[in-house]
Amino acid sequence: MTGHSATEPALRWHQMATSVLSGHSLKKEEAREVLNSSDEEILNLLAATYRVRHHFFGNTVQLFFLMNAKSGLCPEDCGYCSQSKVSEAEIPRYNLLSVPKLLEAARLANERQSKTFCIVISARGPSEKEIDFVCSVVPQIKEQYDLNVCACLGLLTPAQATKLAAAGVDKVNHNLNTSERHYEEVCSTHTYADRVATLQACRSAGLQLCSGGIMGMGETTDDLIEMAFALKEMDVESIPLNFLNSIDGTPLEDVNEISPRDCLRGLAMMRLVNPAAEIRIAGGREIHLGSLQPLGLYAANSIFVGDYLTTEGQLPEADYQMIKELGFVVTQGSEAAEPAPVFEETTH
Ligand code: SF4
Repeated sequence: MTGHSATEPALRWHQMATSVLSGHSLKKEEAREVLNSSDEEILNLLAATYRVRHHFFGNTVQLFFLMNAKSGLCPEDCGYCSQSKVSEAEIPRYNLLSVPKLLEAARLANERQSKTFCIVISARGPSEKEIDFVCSVVPQIKEQYDLNVCACLGLLTPAQATKLAAAGVDKVNHNLNTSERHYEEVCSTHTYADRVATLQACRSAGLQLCSGGIMGMGETTDDLIEMAFALKEMDVESIPLNFLNSIDGTPLEDVNEISPRDCLRGLAMMRLVNPAAEIRIAGGREIHLGSLQPLGLYAANSIFVGDYLTTEGQLPEADYQMIKELGFVVTQGSEAAEPAPVFEETTH
């Protein structure tokens, strides 16, 4: 708990937001204060966080569309994942989809007003055949649609990252998922350091970075804070924050530890630590945020529209309606310019 009474926190959170908007980095103890704040303070916290979100993104929302181009069959053992070798979850398992199927998914992403089309494969890392497949399909997608393309292919070598960049891939997703300390409790077949090395290889190849994590895997508040600061350290442009959807048949099937207010505090902390980053309310938002989903968009500026990798999302129409009712607008493709990293208080 913060020690602030319910009557004074508004000022505290606004001071924090003003400091962030003046270019100061949030301190770890302040991030801890955010995560430990009481339920009574949520609206004040979100109001202050929204000043930061609004400064960089106004009232816009960016939509992401996921296509699982290869499902299941993964040799890794990530405890949260239904596609791992240790998962007994009943999911579709298939090898690489065909080019026409990917192009059809890109058409749907464009129709659904997405900014970004995410091509995902389940793997420790891609084979050369899989890299060549992605490199052949991306130019076709970009020729037909005004979509950014993000590739989520597992661990990458510097040479693979360079190939993806040359093919026109804008961004690579590779989540840190949790803190370095907590990582080995979640996965034993690769390390946190492996994940960082992939992000560094992508950065060196000139790719933008999409990397985030999962709340609710038994981590401490300090684990979440360490992850948020690690993402800041790497200047990650796009941060998906997932909320563990404990899928039957996975090692974490019985873990269900977070409340909707915890999710909101996590999003607010992520925004205040990474003020200019695109922050996305990712997998698990429907089940964990529930009726509080709209409040999440006062901290985050982005959501996935449609289904996740192996779980269903709510109908796109419900997302459009939520965005409209908030008075927010969707910006699509290249319209959705990246925010300039300028810090100065605005007058809104
Ligand atoms: S590497 Fe990716 S697909 Fe494989 S088990 Fe881990 S999260 Fe799932």
